[in-house]
Amino acid sequence: MKFRTLDDLGDVTGKVALVRVDLNLPMHDGAVTEDSRVRASAPTILELADKGAKVLLLAHFGRPKGARNSEQSLSMVVGAVEAVLGREVMFVPEIAGDVVAQTIGILGPGGIAILENTRFWPGEEKNDPALAKAIAAHGDIYVNDAFSAAHRAHATTEGLAHLLPAYAGRSMQAELAALAAALDNPAKPVAALVGGAKVSSKLDVLQNLVNKVDHLIIGGGMANTFLAARGVAVGKSLCEHDLAATCEEIMTAADKAGCTVHLPYDVVVAKEFAANPPSLRTANVHEVAADEMILDIGPAAVESLGDVLKTCRTLVWNGPLGAFETPPFDAATVALARTAAALTREGSLVSVAGGGDTVAALHHAGVAGDFSYISTAGGAFLEWMEGRELPGVKALEVG
Ligand code: ADP
Ligand code: MG
Repeated sequence: MKFRTLDDLGDVTGKVALVRVDLNLPMHDGAVTEDSRVRASAPTILELADKGAKVLLLAHFGRPKGARNSEQSLSMVVGAVEAVLGREVMFVPEIAGDVVAQTIGILGPGGIAILENTRFWPGEEKNDPALAKAIAAHGDIYVNDAFSAAHRAHATTEGLAHLLPAYAGRSMQAELAALAAALDNPAKPVAALVGGAKVSSKLDVLQNLVNKVDHLIIGGGMANTFLAARGVAVGKSLCEHDLAATCEEIMTAADKAGCTVHLPYDVVVAKEFAANPPSLRTANVHEVAADEMILDIGPAAVESLGDVLKTCRTLVWNGPLGAFETPPFDAATVALARTAAALTREGSLVSVAGGGDTVAALHHAGVAGDFSYISTAGGAFLEWMEGRELPGVKALEVG
């Protein structure tokens, strides 16, 4: 796959670079709590600015469904971006039109501005050519540095690439190179660990993934959904009951492909979702009461999964095994992360992880630095693993 990078830029002094980045940052009470996605794109932004371009950052935040709202304005991240870049950054409450044109007039070479949340406009997620054209009208070049959004064919992740000379940013370039090195010809056996809360979007990927891996380890809300599909009563757990048929199809496909699916035998449950609740207990999956929630996989499951990892040479991980932000429901995620880290340090395992919450969980476990590679992306990472062509990457392809 060939694409242009910033090495292929001509003179961009005074030119306008429309740069798609990932500013979908974890926030709490209106403040950014984690800025690794900004740090990932900082080299691209600074390189363009230092070459004299006027840099307009395009990004989405959350799922505003095509309408403006004050809670999801990207104005909230300006301070965090300034702090990472060490430069002043303007904010523009539009993504096209007169206000954007005026901003470009004001910005000197090397100036940086963040445009408003692209998903406030319905045309973004519809990849509406009219919206892409209106945005492209302001730019001289398009740079995509958001690998984490490349699995979506949206106006600013895909459409723009066809309207302007398009380049992969440094973070996009590094992600693609690292994932190819680790996973193009992965050492076998390969285990995929999929957990977390975004069950429906991740299930989609598993159907093909079972053809690529030897072990599929399922945790988090995803495990609850599979257990329920097998007829296990999961009480009040996070679970998507209407996806039972899809889960069965995945199990059948795995069987055919010779992929072993690992569901937990035991789980950690509670009646209320709080830190160290009085109702906390470990239970066999068949003994969950109607008023209980499964919030983590159990210690027996963790131990057997550790043994599985010891037989594997490659691990790809997306999604925490439990509600790790709330103790003690971090126990399984932390324990298995430490096993994977130890095996990686010993040289017997190549470990690749991706996903906003997954990366946070690995930092929480203190082992993020031990993994072979950590991707900024979650959904895009899973689809890449599955072997799917990512529209945002494909649109950058040349020749
Ligand atoms: P990622 O961002 O790594 O792709 P997701 O966004 O899909 O992962 O899921 C992460 C979330 O899943 C975390 O906030 C975690 O608390 C939640 N989670 C995991 N297991 C459970 C569970 N059993 N019940 C409720 N929430 C869970
Ligand atoms: Mg997440």
